Amino acid sequence: MDLFDKFDELPGRYKRIVAQGRNPFGVEMEQITSPTQVVIEGKKTILAGSHNYLGLTFDEDCIEAGRTALAEQGTGTTGSRIANGTFRGHQKLEQKLGEILDLPTVIVFPTGYQANLGAIAGLAGSDDTILIDADCHACIYDGCKMSGATVVRFRHNSPEDLDRRLSRLGDENSNKLIITEGLFSMYGDTAPLKEIAEVKRNHSAYLYVDEAHSVGVYGARGRGLAEQHDVADDVDFVVGTFSKSLGSIGGFCASNHPKAEYLRYASRPYMFTASISPATIATVLKAAEHIAEKPELRERLWRNSEHLHSGLSELGYKLCSTVSPIISAEMPDQETAVRCWNSLLDKGVYVNLAIPPGTPKGECLLRASMSAAHTSEEIDQILEAYAAVKREVNKIRPDQ
Ligand code: PMP
Repeated sequence: MDLFDKFDELPGRYKRIVAQGRNPFGVEMEQITSPTQVVIEGKKTILAGSHNYLGLTFDEDCIEAGRTALAEQGTGTTGSRIANGTFRGHQKLEQKLGEILDLPTVIVFPTGYQANLGAIAGLAGSDDTILIDADCHACIYDGCKMSGATVVRFRHNSPEDLDRRLSRLGDENSNKLIITEGLFSMYGDTAPLKEIAEVKRNHSAYLYVDEAHSVGVYGARGRGLAEQHDVADDVDFVVGTFSKSLGSIGGFCASNHPKAEYLRYASRPYMFTASISPATIATVLKAAEHIAEKPELRERLWRNSEHLHSGLSELGYKLCSTVSPIISAEMPDQETAVRCWNSLLDKGVYVNLAIPPGTPKGECLLRASMSAAHTSEEIDQILEAYAAVKREVNKIRPDQ
């Protein structure tokens, strides 16, 4: 018996994928020249799989803010806020996010993953029941496991199924926490938050929404899908990340409950890990200001998303959702998906390959994501590459 025995099944699967060309899960970006352009294998490549929705990774104001913080405050905090103390920047950032989200309590975590672990496991315990959308992200599942709460899954985006499952719980004396996401990252579809909020009210439950992919993307002020659906007041806990629209790294949990502030002292992924660095705080703070003050970024993002979505539909790709900045095309099988992914990269376009076990129903997807920073010409080039890939696949599989 060997510690590594559990990996024995991996090489076969992995080798089959790599044998078709490259390792899709270890692509090296040799140079990063802009939010939408990199160099891979010595060749200029368009990034169409980065979730850099507002393109702020190269924003001059963000870079300048980060540079100044780095020079003035050093490279890192070297510990957790509980032990090493809070930098003024942490507080300013929490305050800024609170203003944008219009919520009194905001707690910043080192990543979005940890925000979910910390918030879920801090809020719920063995006497509580969590109801989660079946397609929720892995870190929500991990947070649920860590909490020790009873976990009930409801059918993806089905308020009816959620309602049924809550009714089945009867008037059990446990707290009920409903968890869903805003924009779902695999299909690019969105949660029916209005209907879910109604179910929440009918069952006196709490509602927790992971807006990782929707902050900065949805809502007139970029607060997320709850703002867009006009149900922000029904959401008890909003979780998000700094690694997408905000162009950096980190995460947060925000709430309208004043007592949520105590999560800082009940959340192990907050207490026992180092806090984000001054340069990170400064770039996120500046990016958050841009979300609030530059609606034109969101407008450009949506124009670009429409452009790619309509172009791929016209080419005959089977898309997983209506227009959103995540545009996933369903592939008939893994071999075709890997072949198409390699072929797109040969043509200078990088997208994400999503295959089981990472996909909700075991599908194989080519997942693209749009940025406000993409130019119209870049989107046309992406579409030309998809068109050429479609012609190649049709030669091998005329039924596609
Ligand atoms: N929530 C969702 C819905 C996500 O898709 C992700 C990761 N993409 C996370 C949380 C984790 O965020 P981070 O990458 O900042 O840890």
